[in-house]
Amino acid sequence: MVSMRAMVLERPGTPLIEHERPIPAPSVGEILVEIAACGVCRTDLHVVDGELADPRLPIVPGHEIVGRVAAMGAGVAGGLALGDRVGVPWLGHTCGACTYCRTGRENLCDAPLFTGYTRDGGYATHAIADARFCFPLPGASDDAETAPLLCAGLIGWRSYRMAGEGRSLGLYGFGAAAHILAQVAAWQGRRVYAFTRAGDAAAQSLAKSLGAVWAGGSEELPPEPLDAAIIFAPVGALVPRALKAVKKAGRVVCGGIHMSDIPSFPYRDLWEERQIVSVANLTREDAREFLALAPQAGIKTSVRRYPLAQANAALTDLRQGRIQGAAVLIP
Ligand SMILES: [Zn+2]
Ligand SMILES: [Zn+2]
Repeated sequence: MVSMRAMVLERPGTPLIEHERPIPAPSVGEILVEIAACGVCRTDLHVVDGELADPRLPIVPGHEIVGRVAAMGAGVAGGLALGDRVGVPWLGHTCGACTYCRTGRENLCDAPLFTGYTRDGGYATHAIADARFCFPLPGASDDAETAPLLCAGLIGWRSYRMAGEGRSLGLYGFGAAAHILAQVAAWQGRRVYAFTRAGDAAAQSLAKSLGAVWAGGSEELPPEPLDAAIIFAPVGALVPRALKAVKKAGRVVCGGIHMSDIPSFPYRDLWEERQIVSVANLTREDAREFLALAPQAGIKTSVRRYPLAQANAALTDLRQGRIQGAAVLIP
């Protein structure tokens, strides 16, 4: 095979266009991945809709890639071999030299590359990746069901750790990330409160089936004050609402890359050492931790498969809140 197919964003705000192009050869330190599945993340919507600054254009979106090593450039370390199953996440490259990289915070690197945003991603049959930022995926898990772990799982896990050790946890926006984290939290014996759009009975029943002790609309208050809340929905108005739901010293974690503006709110809702924090990207350490934990916790993802050529339909369904769990593209 000499050519590959990719769904390409030429200009934000326009549909992806299917392209056929030569399969690229991996350079030093890179691998060519033959893609088996690529998850559709809300961040892809922000890229496609033009809500994130300066994407590299044209760009192939997608940063929840599961595939197999099809070719290797020179100097690939880490024991990878042809045919190995690997995952390619959002963090595609870091400089290794800036203050953040040198202090264990490569998620904040000053000169990063992000898969599907500033380097071509997984809405394709093939992708090139920096081997140091790929993760071996041993085991026999289903490719499509594994794909959402690569972002919803990894950045969800970073958000979850940032929420602290409290026993009662609110999850605002019950999509791909929350449906994974609810299982982690229930496995750890925490009480999960799931907040969805008002009247979204399907998301609320999915939440309960995955271990949430309560599910309701995001305008409601939970039956007990929360130790922490994570907001995955890109809705700034949820920040003051979540602040009212957390107890003294409670923490509200904003897990997304983009959110509508946060409305003003009285200082008393923040007082008593409540905190609002955001999560940016992931480190490779987050990935190693979470990918080891996921099978122990028995994480099962709920996916809806779309053929690669139907990427625009998958994005539309996600934008309109029609996906339970995660959408995944299959080349
Ligand atoms: Zn750096
Ligand atoms: Zn993502």
